[in-house]
Amino acid sequence: MPDIRPMVGSGALVLNATYEPLCVVSVRRAAILVLSAKAVCVADGEGMLHSARNALPVPSVVRLTRFVRVPYRTHVGLSRRAIFARDNWRCVYCRGPAETIDHVFPRSRGGRHAWENVVAACAKCNHTKGDKTPAELGWRLHTLPTAPKGMAWRVLGHRAPDPRWADWLDLREAEAA
Ligand SMILES: [Zn+2]
Repeated sequence: MPDIRPMVGSGALVLNATYEPLCVVSVRRAAILVLSAKAVCVADGEGMLHSARNALPVPSVVRLTRFVRVPYRTHVGLSRRAIFARDNWRCVYCRGPAETIDHVFPRSRGGRHAWENVVAACAKCNHTKGDKTPAELGWRLHTLPTAPKGMAWRVLGHRAPDPRWADWLDLREAEAA
């Protein structure tokens, strides 16, 4: 393993041999793929990485030299940050800034921890709502929670895309999702 330093940038986009976006990995991991000839760099980031024997530009996008068959992932991981990103950091009840996660049908009453039942909410609404359902309070949700879809979501999750990745990710799809 090459000793690569410094750790620059947040990550690199990995494309399959067919240019299909696969995932985001650390810059270090991307550099190792390039140095071991498992991938070629198709877009440079900023700065240089230095190992004992090599210096190479920080990779921003790399393409695998051999096609890998990847099981198609249809589910986007459910995480706090991903929920906030889906709901645009807005409370689904009052549209104010969200800082908490609410289970629409309360967990204490058997509500599931799933994309369809979790929403971003402000602390005030969350506290007022307590163990009640929106219907019991006469509240309505501004948007109905669904699992995010689309290639960009699958590849990026809650990450903000690097502008250098735009050519390979259909980001309009991400906005529509
Ligand atoms: Zn609210």
